[in-house]
Amino acid sequence: MALTPTQALDAVLAQVTVLPAERVALAASIGRVLRQEVMAERDNPPFDRVCMDGVAIASTTFTAGAREFTVHGTQAAGAVPQALTDPGGAIEVMTGAVLPPGTDCVVPLEEYTLAAQKLTMNGDASAEPWRNVQRRGSDSAPGVPMLTRGARLGAAEVAIVASAGLAHVQVSRQPRIKVVSTGDELVEPGQTIADHQVRRSNAYAVVAALRQHGFDHTTDDHLRDDEQLMRARLGEHLESNDVMVLSGGVSKGKFDFVPAALKHLGVEEVFYQVAQRPGRPMWFGRGPRGQLVFGLPGNPVSTLICLVRYVLPALRAAMAQAPRATERIAMAREMRKGRPMIYFMPVTLESREGASSVASPRPPSGSGDFLALAGTDGFVELPARADGYPDGFVADFYRW
Ligand code: AMP
Ligand code: MG
Repeated sequence: MALTPTQALDAVLAQVTVLPAERVALAASIGRVLRQEVMAERDNPPFDRVCMDGVAIASTTFTAGAREFTVHGTQAAGAVPQALTDPGGAIEVMTGAVLPPGTDCVVPLEEYTLAAQKLTMNGDASAEPWRNVQRRGSDSAPGVPMLTRGARLGAAEVAIVASAGLAHVQVSRQPRIKVVSTGDELVEPGQTIADHQVRRSNAYAVVAALRQHGFDHTTDDHLRDDEQLMRARLGEHLESNDVMVLSGGVSKGKFDFVPAALKHLGVEEVFYQVAQRPGRPMWFGRGPRGQLVFGLPGNPVSTLICLVRYVLPALRAAMAQAPRATERIAMAREMRKGRPMIYFMPVTLESREGASSVASPRPPSGSGDFLALAGTDGFVELPARADGYPDGFVADFYRW
């Protein structure tokens, strides 16, 4: 019996070994998966920080009734703090400056007038303790990491690493991936094509998807349907890569040599076929060094869907990326046609007034109809159901 998609992914994940960590420069760490904790270098913020342009005063003086203050100095961001020794005085302060010792609040510009060092508060001025001050250490607790292992470094995370003063970080090494298309009928873009031939488009889609998800060590190759040739070239690719993503050649056709060639090379079959449409003839195996070998079906819609559903999660797991909950989304309209087995439906996100996005189905006419994928955002996984899916039906959503 063919596995369900959930069982198939579990079977894939069970074969994943985590890649070693490496040290990279901060600027090169974007998109990588963190393999260390990042602790605050100091308190965050590192001092009582002024967060408005204005004057710093002692709130008790204001509370006691004082509305006129003598300005003793000006303090910019980045300047060594000046202390206020005169409780009836004030220091002009700029956003980002250290709060002058002897003061405990900042009255903003709009609430006073200033002439020749004499400051007069307006009627609406107020001066509660710590007004417009971000207290030292209020953004991070001491001893608690700001980032933990498994975090993917996006823009915010890179900023946090920088704030911790680290010029280098430990991240997972990227997997080396070989994308291999197979088929005698396939012709490269740019080369003359005959009526009976087909453009080699899948490998471009797979490489594009992998690069888009930050997998930069991705190269590709094309193999004719020739078992001897496949053995030789797949053998070389197995030697020098962690992951192989093949498309085509895995069905039961007379020229589908991929599984036999892989078997010859010592790649053990983990499963063949998944109870899903499109993409039933998916093959997955494990190489002698633990290489992950995906034989994706050749039909372009199946290829991309299987890549997103199985290959990307495996690559994230290999980089020890913390798993994320699957997104769920409501369908934008009723679908009358029921499906006899789990069905992957391409969708486009639409926004509905007052609600989050909904998914509008974009059914391809078949698994070769990749034109239908243009402009889609991903696909939903529809469970088997005889009598269709109501408007608002909620399904698991996978983004491209
Ligand atoms: P296969 O799995 O090899 O039987 O291929 C199934 C279908 O997908 C056939 O119509 C192939 O021509 C097509 N196909 C296979 N590989 C590719 C590719 N790299 N680009 C475009 N179409 C492909
Ligand atoms: Mg083929």
